[in-house]
Amino acid sequence: MARRISIFGATGSIGQNTIDLIARARDDYDVVALTGAGNIAQLAQDATDLNAQVAVTAHDHLLEDLRLALSGTGIDAAAGEQAIKEAAGRPVDWAMSAIIGAAGLAPGVEILKQGATLALANKESLVCAGKLILETAAANDAHILPVDSEHSAIFQALIGEDIDAVERIIITASGGAFRDWPLDQLADATLAQASSHPNWDMGQRITIDSASMFNKAMEVIETREYFGIAPEKIEVLIHPQSMIHALVGFNDGALMAHIGPSDMRHAIGFALHHPHRRSLPVERLDLAKIGNFEFRAPDDVRWPALRLARDVMARGGMSGAVFNAAKEIALDGFIDGRLQFPQMAEVVEEVLDGLIMDTGLIDATMTLDNVAQVDHLARQTAKAVIKKRAG
Ligand code: NAD
Ligand code: MG
Repeated sequence: MARRISIFGATGSIGQNTIDLIARARDDYDVVALTGAGNIAQLAQDATDLNAQVAVTAHDHLLEDLRLALSGTGIDAAAGEQAIKEAAGRPVDWAMSAIIGAAGLAPGVEILKQGATLALANKESLVCAGKLILETAAANDAHILPVDSEHSAIFQALIGEDIDAVERIIITASGGAFRDWPLDQLADATLAQASSHPNWDMGQRITIDSASMFNKAMEVIETREYFGIAPEKIEVLIHPQSMIHALVGFNDGALMAHIGPSDMRHAIGFALHHPHRRSLPVERLDLAKIGNFEFRAPDDVRWPALRLARDVMARGGMSGAVFNAAKEIALDGFIDGRLQFPQMAEVVEEVLDGLIMDTGLIDATMTLDNVAQVDHLARQTAKAVIKKRAG
């Protein structure tokens, strides 16, 4: 029987890679919902090719465009945040959560409520509301499979292992676009320079987050939440080749490394076929040709985001939601030219320092509504911080 699947964030980098895999085995899947935002042509094309039940854009004002693009296909068109949530309520067996940002949280929770398997690329869900996501999965007998290369790697290294025997988890980082830049030049980094990654081809926002290491900071928190590992057992290692994605260190001294090409279709395909392995159209590495793997320690001065992640893990509660929201606004600020590259971390730190002491806020019960409120407040605070700096 064909598996019913939906893809949230279908038009993005992860979404398109997911579609690439699905399209290779069309008959194995019944596509239920595809969602996107501004790229209506892509959304309509994919919905038509995959014969989806419904296509949803996040933008209300694009509903007519979407309807027009889908006319005659029999595919439902819908728009808006609520419509995305409703699409997540349509019964499926498996769904890809690949919306970017905190907007991915609510549809993910909806998928888990139906007891389906959630392939989770949207790391923001775990950073903002790890406890909520995991508890919702447990309460509904739903599964979450990580779709971040590092977390898929850790998951694979842990198969058949006892989590109590894990001494440390090492996640690797390429170091991004500015790994080797002189520190005093970072203030002059342009958007184009920050948007080009040495090894991975990803969406623009996560590529800039790789250069600032906010992406790695989020992944450290993601590791803590998903695997329930103590913060002090999580390490970051700079590995410029991006081929070892993560390593798990056990109490007998063994280090299990996961090595693979820089192609997200591996992690996506692993989550799609789990618990089986199926052949995937990714490069087979020729290690003799590669010759060398390099490693070095990360630098907290170059990448203050890593230090901020430690603060968030130490504080717990809703501090992850503050961190993510402030980071998203600071990133907007860099993209539209109001902030210099190093100022993103300064803004996030100022917002965190300001809100983290508010116990009523940070220790509130983790519900979707409360997370949304914290998210909103942190965004407003970040905008005020940026405005104050500009003034
Ligand atoms: P992307 O920017 O390429 O795509 C984002 C998708 O979300 C698009 O379909 C877009 O239409 C949709 N979207 C944007 N804003 C939205 C909103 N407000 N409401 C609903 N939908 C919205 O992003 P990406 O690189 O594919 O990343 C997606 C997620 O996967 C992120 O959480 C990212 O951290 C994670 N991730 C990505 C990669 C990668 O290789 N790209 C690797 C690991 C994890
Ligand atoms: Mg990653």
